[in-house]
Amino acid sequence: MTKNTPDSASTASSSDFARDTIKRMALERIMPTPENYTRIYNEIAKVPEQKSLEALIKSLLKELPRDNVESLKWAGAFEKILNDANLIPLTTLVESSIQVKAKQSKAWPNAIRDLLAQWEKKHSSVTPKYKKETLDRLLSNFGSDPSLPEKLQVMTKNWMQQQEPANTISVELLDDAVAVVAEKKSPVSLVDEILPQPLVVVETQVDNIKTTIVGESKINSNVNDVQENFDVLQNLLGQALNCGLIPRLDGDMDLKEGATELFSRIKKTNKIEEWQDFAVELKDLLTKVDLFNHDEKDLKNSLLSLLRLLIDNIGELMIDDKSMTGQIAALKTILSSPLEKTMILDLEKSLKEVIYKQGALKHSIIDAKESFKHMIVLFIERLGSLSDSTGSYQGKIGVYAEKLAGLDDITQINHLVESLASDTRLMQTDVLRSHQAIDEQRAIAVSAELKILELETQLSQLSEKVRIDQLTGVLNRRGLEEAFVQEIARAQRGESNLCVAMLDIDNFKRLNDTYGHETGDVALKYLANVIKETVRPTDIVARFGGEEFVILLPKTDVSEANAAIVRLQRELTKKFFMQKNERLLITFSAGIAVFKVNEDRATVLHRADSAMYLAKKMGKNRVMTELDL
Ligand code: GH3
Ligand code: MG
Ligand code: MG
Repeated sequence: MTKNTPDSASTASSSDFARDTIKRMALERIMPTPENYTRIYNEIAKVPEQKSLEALIKSLLKELPRDNVESLKWAGAFEKILNDANLIPLTTLVESSIQVKAKQSKAWPNAIRDLLAQWEKKHSSVTPKYKKETLDRLLSNFGSDPSLPEKLQVMTKNWMQQQEPANTISVELLDDAVAVVAEKKSPVSLVDEILPQPLVVVETQVDNIKTTIVGESKINSNVNDVQENFDVLQNLLGQALNCGLIPRLDGDMDLKEGATELFSRIKKTNKIEEWQDFAVELKDLLTKVDLFNHDEKDLKNSLLSLLRLLIDNIGELMIDDKSMTGQIAALKTILSSPLEKTMILDLEKSLKEVIYKQGALKHSIIDAKESFKHMIVLFIERLGSLSDSTGSYQGKIGVYAEKLAGLDDITQINHLVESLASDTRLMQTDVLRSHQAIDEQRAIAVSAELKILELETQLSQLSEKVRIDQLTGVLNRRGLEEAFVQEIARAQRGESNLCVAMLDIDNFKRLNDTYGHETGDVALKYLANVIKETVRPTDIVARFGGEEFVILLPKTDVSEANAAIVRLQRELTKKFFMQKNERLLITFSAGIAVFKVNEDRATVLHRADSAMYLAKKMGKNRVMTELDL
């Protein structure tokens, strides 16, 4: 075990030292052991005292740091190895500490990299101040802990996760707050209890008004922070009222005043009791706001119904004015779908354009008609002066002039001009000289007429040709007329049967009165859809008026038509019409007639109508044919 042999002294004097050592051992009668020899030799040779390796290790062991769990464990294990005098476990111990070191050497760069990345990054709910505080706290608590890099990584991971809203505290949280208030706790403890996480988001939603309050809690911070957090919440509540709620209450001054009053109280409210009152009043106000929103919706709906009624009536009055029907159809389309601001603006713009163009065209037509009439008057006058000699012709001229004064229709004026011209031929001698002039005038008249026709066509093209019923999407009366003409022609050509069914909804007025006109409209649409889905594609479906529908069934005899309409009745009982979670059953009474060769549309429709009235009389919800009449 001893390393300090005499060989370690200088060779020049080592034999002297050895001789002196032996001498001294002999003189002092010291036991001649190797240890004694070495000790005395070292004394003589003045070799500094050397500790044994074991002693050396033991003294080093005392110096080992024991300031954390890891190092305490390591030093203990080493001590045990020395005490047991068994060096075998030493290899394992050294290996494991090498591994730990290797791990630590990787952990640090990773921890620093993560820290740098998250330090710079903006987090929606972690402020730079908060980051600094947590880092400070970590360093002072775990500065010499080997697990510091892991702890740093956990901390940065937390920051990263708090990028998402940390917590969403809803009504339950506010209820908790009320419970805390009830126990009369201080504002600080209130914040403590209701905001258990470093960051909270408080959300309330009334109808479609959402109020979001974001704040920091007191966790790991001091009382000043809590007061600061409380101030943040107070400000946020103020903003929610001032920017979120108050501007939406323009329609109700009382509510607006109430909300403004609450807003003005926020800064003055300090005591818990005052906050408690404030919460009750705020809840009360939000309930009223909710009701107010419903009222506003109802008002809008009744205004819309009123507008629809007006438009329908105007539509009836203007049935012959093509330029108006297009505009009215467009208005109806807009009113039949949910109102959107952009749609209303578009409609206003297009209506303005149409009205402007229409105004301009109407003026041009009036001007053209006036100049045409004026020209004819001139022509007649000139003709009169030419034919002074022929008294009978003079009389005719007078009649023409009178007739012309009463005419406004351009075709009639044209006829008048033609007969006038033919009369003039009788006066060949008189008018010969003015033939050229007449032709010229006629050419002017024709071009004026063309101009008028062109203007009229333009005017009618401005308005969409409406053949479809705007509410139900099936043909309207005009569309039915056209289809009827075609079907009659086809039936006569092919000598096949054409059946006409007239349907009238039973007790529709009662449905309107009970559930409202809007529900009535939905019922009409629903019925039209069921009819379209049930009949053959070749059948023609039209809304005849109000709650009456006409179905043309080509190539169908009475019994087949009867079966088709009965099938439709069954379909209606199978598919309930749902309204506000209520199943409504819609029934109709129907009459069927067969078209007879060479009769007109009105006659066959009349027979179908009579059969339908018979069905009503017999108790409704049934189908009758003209054979039952
Ligand atoms: P009946 O069984 O004898 O046919 O009775 P009814 O109530 O169906 O018939 P009535 O002729 O007394 O009433 C028809 C109702 O249909 C009156 C009218 O207000 C309503 N109506 C007409 N057109 C429309 C419409 O476009 N929409 C709505 N909702 N109702 C309409
Ligand atoms: Mg009716
Ligand atoms: Mg009816």
